[in-house]
Amino acid sequence: MLTHSRNGSKKPSSTQSKVARRDLKGYNPLQPERIAEILGRLDQLYFDATCALTHRSAWELLVATILSAQSTDVNVNRVTPELFRKYPTVRDFAALEPKQLEPDIQSTGFFRNKAKFVVGAARKIVAEFAGEVPETMEQLLTLPGVARKTANVVLGTWFKQGVGIVVDTHVTRLSRRLELTKNTDPQKIEADLMKVIPQTKWILFAHQLIWHGRKVCAARAPKCVECRLENICHAADKTWSTVAIHKMATP
Ligand code: SF4
Repeated sequence: MLTHSRNGSKKPSSTQSKVARRDLKGYNPLQPERIAEILGRLDQLYFDATCALTHRSAWELLVATILSAQSTDVNVNRVTPELFRKYPTVRDFAALEPKQLEPDIQSTGFFRNKAKFVVGAARKIVAEFAGEVPETMEQLLTLPGVARKTANVVLGTWFKQGVGIVVDTHVTRLSRRLELTKNTDPQKIEADLMKVIPQTKWILFAHQLIWHGRKVCAARAPKCVECRLENICHAADKTWSTVAIHKMATP
């Protein structure tokens, strides 16, 4: 039975909580059955989840991903159509001084660094990769402003290569709430996820977590009452729960 708190949110009854606590005995968040259940539910919810950054080429996706740091995809999508109309090719960007690019990307934040990264990446791609965005993790990581997250976005979304898992702020938060990792460092989180998520799912899984993070599992006040993962989630900061919660799973 569910009861309603004074502020209107639903809370499980004490009997239900006792049952839930008992059910937690022997619980292992990384059990293959639990992982399969999480993946199955995410597939039902977001079977065709993909990158929300508007792009028409690997280069445009690379630029959009660099611009998305500390910003939102919506913000970036407001800027990029005009940006790529003004500078249609990677060679156009390589010919710029970072200062010239700054006004065009200012609204995405951290625009001085981002301008340096985008122009630097364009110059390197023109000088060392014949003007084509490279297709390996190793080569992508040599580009200014490109760490594993950006490389994984480009490799997964454009080149359809699942060689890693995109770990952004949503994937970090949800992986911790779902107890798929206890780490906070993106590289360690990615390594933890790669151990438990089948490789065939690496690209889709990250997009699914990102969508779930945007729509339901927000950083503040996650909508647990609406969440289809609720009864298999034990996150410490749940706003509503039918199962025992514990400190192992934190945002
Ligand atoms: S139950 Fe709440 S904390 Fe857990 S995944 Fe769903 S929205 Fe996030």
